[in-house]
Order: sequence, then structure tokens, then C-alpha cells
Amino acid sequence: MRLLITGGVGFIGSNYINWHLQQYPGDEIICLDKLTYAANMAALADVVKLNNFTFIQGDICDEQFVESCFAQYKFDAVINFAAESHVDTSIKSPSIFIKTNVEGTGVLLDACVKFAVERFHQISTDEVYGSLPDDGKSYFYETTPYQPHSPYSASKASSDMLVKAYIDTYHFPANVTNTSNNYGPYQFPEKLIPLIINNALHGKKLPVYGDGLNIRDWLYVDDHAKGIDMVQEHGKLGESYNIGGHNERKNIDVVKAICTLLEELAPNKPNGVTRYEDLITYVTDRPGHDLRYAIDASKIQKDLGWVPEESFETGLRKTVEWYLNNLEWCRRVQDGSYQRER
Ligand code: NAD
Repeated sequence: MRLLITGGVGFIGSNYINWHLQQYPGDEIICLDKLTYAANMAALADVVKLNNFTFIQGDICDEQFVESCFAQYKFDAVINFAAESHVDTSIKSPSIFIKTNVEGTGVLLDACVKFAVERFHQISTDEVYGSLPDDGKSYFYETTPYQPHSPYSASKASSDMLVKAYIDTYHFPANVTNTSNNYGPYQFPEKLIPLIINNALHGKKLPVYGDGLNIRDWLYVDDHAKGIDMVQEHGKLGESYNIGGHNERKNIDVVKAICTLLEELAPNKPNGVTRYEDLITYVTDRPGHDLRYAIDASKIQKDLGWVPEESFETGLRKTVEWYLNNLEWCRRVQDGSYQRER
């Protein structure tokens, strides 16, 4: 199979490529990525030398360029990870989110229709569903109406809607998967878990929005890769699937859990730090901050047999260990040198 992965140099895309090529060494992957600040080629160091992996730098919004790639490679399937993905940035600069996430998806859809691609897979988020009360019993289902609150989630909702419209209008062979907060290796340290690990190791403040009681549902990135793969292999075309780990945690509890792991795994603290937890600092809440996300993933479990392998405890430990073993990677991200080494 010849697979186009867009946004494959980002956090989830690169983990997916590494995982996929280990599982299916006979497949061919072409990775198309614009290489924004969120892309880090170091994440693909193990696959760039393979004959069945090709990297192309380019923008999914560039219609001519995208068409030329489709004409040249004749992809069997496309998985679209490419996106602007940081909510805080979307609040400051929404237009690039509309451009990449909405228009870019539209360009890919048109190319798929034109070149009769057999399967398109849109990687989406639980944030499109809006926010749940902290009642411990309401969940996002595939049938939950979209009610996005941030420019990021609105742009993801719009791109999902485009995919769904193409399914209905053109019998377009596609799936949408909506996943919860991913975590694991190679995540850019603007996101909560790597941000807290990195700041703690440097003795910097650990910023927690508002009262820290917002709840997110965490999924280890390799479990997400397995879920995507199951949908690719066995998913019913035209369907949406939620992929989530039933790991609901309050943000403050995630931060404290990281501090506890660091006490054990990195006991030599930066100068002036007695306990990592002392670095926790509450900061002004994010505007429109959703209270709770919680995915019901019973459809993919029942229909396709997907179950996550990592609990939050095992996944978080692996993740903290990975960052501790890859301090040089973190340093290059922080001083910007990763962008010069492309
Ligand atoms: P990321 O920001 O780490 O990576 C995005 C990648 O897309 C980068 O490599 C970037 O260079 C590339 N890109 C951006 N604009 C592009 C363009 N115009 N053309 C080509 N490439 C472009 O994001 P991520 O965390 O890996 O997320 C991947 C996908 O999963 C996104 O669609 C995101 O909305 C979705 N998602 C992420 C999470 C999460 O927890 N990280 C949760 C749910 C859904």
C-alpha cells in the first residue's frame, strides 16, 4: 500500500509513521509536511533512511503542488494529520487555523476525488464536541452534535464537516476519527505534559490555567496509532469513530502526577528547588476554556476490537522517562536549533 501522511513530522503523525513502518515494513509512506515550528525531523530519524519512506516539504493549501504529488505518487490512501493544533495560538491568530485546517483539508479532499483515492482518513479531536459538565457521567459520542468553542476546535469542526459533506455528496470513501488529548514522545513543549516536564527540569514555574480543575481525557500516542490503523483496516467507510482512553484527569492532578514522577526519576533538582510541586503557579484562565472532555470509545471497541494498552499511569511514566532520556532533543527544541537542522 502507498500511503500519504500529511503533517507527518508533527507529534502524532511522526509517532504514527514510526509505528506503522514497524508493523507494515512492506508499505510505502510518503510524508508531506510544511515544516512549521511544530515539526521536528528528529522524530523521523529512524525512518528517513528507509527506501519505502519519502519526505516532501510542502503546504496542503497549495492546490497545484498537492495535485502534482497525487499525480506523481498515485496514493492508495491518505491520512490527514496536518493542522495548526495549539488552542492558545488559535486565540491569538485564528486565520492560519482557518487556512490550514479548513482550506487545506478542502484541497486534499478535491485531490482525492480527482485521483480516485480509495480511502481518506481525517484525524480530528474531541474538542469539536464542545464541553461537558463535571458530572462524571456524560460523554462525547459519535452522534454528539458539534459545538466548538475555540478557533482551533471550530476550524477542526469545519474540516470534519467538509469530509462528512464529501461522504454524503460524492460517496467519498472516508472516515473521521475524533481523539482525546494525546501524550507521549516528541510532543512539542507548548502542550501541557511536555511543558510541565521541561519547565520543572529547568526550575521554571509550572503554569496551570484558572483553578486547574478542567478535565481532559488522555490517550497514549501509540494507542492512538493502533486505533487509526484499525479504522484504516476495518473501519466502515463513511463512519466516524471516537478514540479515547477513558483517562479523565483534572489538569492540576496531571501536573502533580508529573511532579511526583520527577521526584522519583530526577531527584537532582535545579538550584533553589526543594519540591517540584512548589513551582506550580496558577495563571489567568484561557478564554472560552472548556471544562471537561470525555470520550465514549465503545463504538471502536465493539465494532473493531480496539482497546488502549496503556493506563494513564504507565503511559505517563514512559513519557516522563522518554523526556529525561532525550534532554538533548528538548534543548534543541527550546533553543530553536531543531529548525536549523532540517
Ligand atoms: P502538531 O502541531 O504536532 O503537528 C502538525 C504538523 O502539521 C506539523 O508537522 C506541521 O508542520 C504540519 N503542518 C501544519 N500546517 C501544514 C500545512 N499547511 N501543510 C502541511 N503540513 C502542515 O499536531 P499533532 O499534535 O501531531 O496533531 C495532529 C493532528 O491530530 C491534528 O489534526 C490535530 O488537530 C489532531 N489532534 C491532536 C491532539 C493532540 O492531543 N495532540 C488531540 C486530538 C486531535
